[in-house]
Amino acid sequence: MAGEDGNLSLVLRGPGDLQLEQRPVPKPARGEVLLGMRSVGICGSDVHYWTHGRIGDFVLTSPMVMGHEASGKVVAVGDGVKDLKPGDRVAIEPGVPCRTCPHCKDGRYNLCPDMRFCATPPVDGSLAQFYCHPADFCYKLPENVSYDEGALLEPLSVGVHACRRAGVALGSHVLVCGAGPIGLVCLLTAKACGATSVIITDLDAGRLEVAKKLGADHVVQVSTRDSLQLSRIITEQLGCEPDQSIECSGAEPSIATAIYSTRSGGTVVLVGMGAAEVKLPIINASVREVDIRGIFRYVNCYPTALKMVASGQVDVKPLITHTYELRDSVKAFERAKTGDGGAIKIIIKCGQTD
Ligand code: NAD
Ligand code: ZN
Repeated sequence: MAGEDGNLSLVLRGPGDLQLEQRPVPKPARGEVLLGMRSVGICGSDVHYWTHGRIGDFVLTSPMVMGHEASGKVVAVGDGVKDLKPGDRVAIEPGVPCRTCPHCKDGRYNLCPDMRFCATPPVDGSLAQFYCHPADFCYKLPENVSYDEGALLEPLSVGVHACRRAGVALGSHVLVCGAGPIGLVCLLTAKACGATSVIITDLDAGRLEVAKKLGADHVVQVSTRDSLQLSRIITEQLGCEPDQSIECSGAEPSIATAIYSTRSGGTVVLVGMGAAEVKLPIINASVREVDIRGIFRYVNCYPTALKMVASGQVDVKPLITHTYELRDSVKAFERAKTGDGGAIKIIIKCGQTD
């Protein structure tokens, strides 16, 4: 199926309609590199676009290539590319901002209104054999970092941004709500930031087992919607109120739990995105000066995420539970949707393993 000159790509044609297609091999524009794709992870948002055809205001109106957690090998470079050459192995930061608006110039390019982000409609993603990307949003991988780890720098960067916005530091006691891939990278990053203890919650015992293996000091299996009661269980088990809480489920009762649990003067970071409007114990947060902060993806986090992995400070490999070939990528998406077999992070291999 994958012809010599073809570019087998996983295309979302409409809600529920994922198909492998041959597309032309793209040519790198000025400042871009052509990549032979290697590892691409599946994210909850990919599955959501597949099942619903939209996330909030981002609506699929024409066929779109999937994939945004990715790594590849440079095959060719466009004019003006100085820092990369054919043969270089890279991780791909999937969001490319306009570079000229006030947010970009302020260094907070994740807030750029003209951001072009892989596999966010209408922008094509990188789940294909070949893909072009601006060279300055590609990060050269040292030899000891695999393509799979390169792909995982994307979710890890979310963890870095969340811990930075939370102010996790040496000695912090941290609550992470939700032990999906994002909660788990927040756990890894909080520990790498020097947190003394991290407690993590989930509904699912299997995910909490993984969290324990990744270094969680305490786990709480959530079995109540009573957020106040749950916050008491959390603080009792942690031995204190957390300084920072990082909410990674998006569930309304869990956001309330994060607020109730956090010590006065502490910080809650909202990573999880569930309902557009939720009911929160806002007076409780207000009178105790608990800061509530959002995050949107990440900004200036890829270099840090890469150093964390390359130095051995964090090991993201245990997040990978399943691997598929590109030709089987619809099956990979099926598994990501059902979560069968304790799936956490599923990686699709798009080419050779060099
Ligand atoms: P996921 O669905 O795999 O994980 C969510 C976890 O939360 C699951 O394990 C689930 O069992 C658990 N959960 C559900 N209700 C809970 C509750 N009441 N208490 C505790 N745990 C509960 O998703 P993920 O890929 O890990 O992503 C997590 C969230 O982060 C999603 O909402 C996603 O949209 C969001 N996200 C946000 C950003 C951002 O930039 N803000 C970036 C990436 C992901
Ligand atoms: Zn901009």
